[in-house]
Amino acid sequence: MRKKLIAANWKMYKTPEQSREFFRDFLPLVEGHERDEIVVCTPFIDLATSVEAARGSNVAVGAQNMHWEKEGAFTGEVSAAMLTAIGVAHVIIGHSERRQYFNETDDTVNLKLKAALEAGFVPIVCVGEVLEEREANLTDDVLRRQCLRAFHKVSAKKAASLVVAYEPVWAIGTGKTATPEIASDAHAIIRGEVTQSFGEEFANNLRILYGGSVKPDNAHALMTAEGIDGALVGGASLDPKAFAAIVNY
Ligand code: PEP
Repeated sequence: MRKKLIAANWKMYKTPEQSREFFRDFLPLVEGHERDEIVVCTPFIDLATSVEAARGSNVAVGAQNMHWEKEGAFTGEVSAAMLTAIGVAHVIIGHSERRQYFNETDDTVNLKLKAALEAGFVPIVCVGEVLEEREANLTDDVLRRQCLRAFHKVSAKKAASLVVAYEPVWAIGTGKTATPEIASDAHAIIRGEVTQSFGEEFANNLRILYGGSVKPDNAHALMTAEGIDGALVGGASLDPKAFAAIVNY
C-alpha cells in the first residue's frame, strides 16, 4: 500500500512572515493526520522560517528547486548541502514553470535528480505534456521521453526515494483539471516507463502524484482514482483552509 504524499507548491508567493502565519493556521487543521504524508514547498527565502514553524509537526518543508553542483560560482543558485543544513529533505525538480521560463531541460532535470538522490533527498520530479502535445496525441511519447531522460544512468537502488508528479501543463494554474480518468491513464504510462527503467517492484512502490488545479472540491475524486498516489498543489495550497481541505479529502 503506497502512502499518499500531498505537497504544496507555493511558487513565488509569501514572505517569511506570511509563511509563519500559514503554519500557525494550517498545522492545527491537519494535526494528527497520519493517513498521508504532507510537504509544503516554499520559496528559498521562506524555508528556514517554515522549517522552524513546522518543527515537531507532521508536516515537512521542501524546496522548489536546487542546483546539481555541490558548490561553485553559480550566482543565485542553492545547493543540496545548503538545503540539508536547514532541515529540508524534499525538492521539486523540473516543474513545468522551470522548464518553460528558466530553460530547464530533460538533461538538467537528470543532473538535478542525480544530485538530489546523492544528497539523500526525496525528489519530486515533474513531467507533463502541453496542450498542443495532448491534442496531437503525443502525451504518451512526451511522458516516456521525459521519464527516460530524467532517469538516465540512475539506478533503482539510488532512486529508492523518488516521487514523480504528473502535471499536464494545460491544467496548471488554469482551473482546468484533468479528469480522474485522464490522470489515471497518464499515471499508467509513467508507471509503465518506470517499470522499463527500474523494474516492476520499484514501479509498484513508486508514488505518482497528480498536479494541475487540484482544489478542495475535486481532491476526493482525484485522490481515490486508480494509480494516483497524492497531489502537487499550487494555487490552492496558499490558503491554509483550502490546503487542509485537500489533505483531508
Ligand atoms: C503546481 O504549481 O504544481 C500546480 C499544479 O499549480 P495549480 O495547482 O495552481 O494548478
